[in-house]
Amino acid sequence: MGLANRVLSLTPSSTLAITAKAKELKEQGEDVIGLGAGEPDFNTPQHILDAAVESMNEGFTKYTPSAGLPALKQAIIRKLETDQGIAYQPNEIIVGNGAKHVLYTLFQVLLNDGDEVIIPTPYWVSYPEQVKLAGGVPVFIEGKEENQFKITAEQLEQAITDKTKAVIINSPSNPTGVIYTEGELRELGRVCLKKDILIVSDEIYEKLIYGGAKHVSIAQLSPELKGQTIIINGVSKSHSMTGWRIGYAAGNETIIKAMTNLASHSTSNPTTTAQYAAIAAYNGPQEPVEEMRKAFEQRLEIIYNKLTSIPGFTCVKPQGAFYLFPNVKSAAEMAGYQNVDDFAAALLVEAKVAVIPGSGFGTPDNIRLSYATSLDLLEKAIARIKEFVEAKS
Ligand code: PLP
Repeated sequence: MGLANRVLSLTPSSTLAITAKAKELKEQGEDVIGLGAGEPDFNTPQHILDAAVESMNEGFTKYTPSAGLPALKQAIIRKLETDQGIAYQPNEIIVGNGAKHVLYTLFQVLLNDGDEVIIPTPYWVSYPEQVKLAGGVPVFIEGKEENQFKITAEQLEQAITDKTKAVIINSPSNPTGVIYTEGELRELGRVCLKKDILIVSDEIYEKLIYGGAKHVSIAQLSPELKGQTIIINGVSKSHSMTGWRIGYAAGNETIIKAMTNLASHSTSNPTTTAQYAAIAAYNGPQEPVEEMRKAFEQRLEIIYNKLTSIPGFTCVKPQGAFYLFPNVKSAAEMAGYQNVDDFAAALLVEAKVAVIPGSGFGTPDNIRLSYATSLDLLEKAIARIKEFVEAKS
């Protein structure tokens, strides 16, 4: 039986593929250290678990409105007001089944066949696939390593055509962990307003920032930019709630309404219990978020120097998220590999460390290592990689 054309060109998520391969090796008894994880290694804070159980015991186990519970929308509105200083109305918010699905729904309602979406490289693996699934065309701009992987306003302006519908800004970034400054966002915003391009601002790693870095949402810079931006965020990374699948979009009422219509025919609503958990996440104590942030920062400080002491590894220092994205082209060459994909494959099989090759993020000279795992394992993994590279060179 033939499959639909729209799925034939889909690339499976490289992140999930490596994680599955590492798991398979582990099950065969291999001592593999997985640095592929895209999720915090902490449990969901207890008060959030309690709120979820309580909601079920009270009988809140039925459908909710498609765009989410009014109380959750209010909690999100309060969060956006407190953190970003922006006022939204309930009809400008939709809660969905994780930020990933919210983005999927957004592209479905936004794009006609052939519409272009500008995606800076390196990018999160799902953006191009989601754009293509909606009939759109991903247009890549290179975030140059010498510019900390960030695109400039000039690059953006040059990439815009009369087919351009939107640009994606992901700050802090997966996979690089870099953050756009307020000044840089203003410059990009100026171009988007001039050319009437929608800004999709994926802020899922907002709470995980280090070294005194500041997260700024492009939507908070002016009322015009607020009108031109759809903020994407959620509880997955901030509150260690990846499995609960709660994310949201905030922005233009017409777009949110279309997304709500689509959700009403696809998901009906995000899981009710998870919505109650998310209310507790936003309205409850935020200390657990800060504790997790601190733990990530401590790991980063310890392992960054160790990683960059490996011969042939250079790395832009991340300011957020929980990934390191070193350029390992020289190391791969020194070790006798044709490309970084082969080097990463050998790291898994021979050094028993699972990392994600940068090719899946549009940047083939790099690898992504997640530090969402214990310091012990991280140190062991980096020692293994170092030993592997030194032995081969
Ligand atoms: N955006 C980025 C940049 C991510 O890295 C991820 C998760 O890996 C998501 C969105 C999706 O998060 P969620 O778990 O809310 O679907």
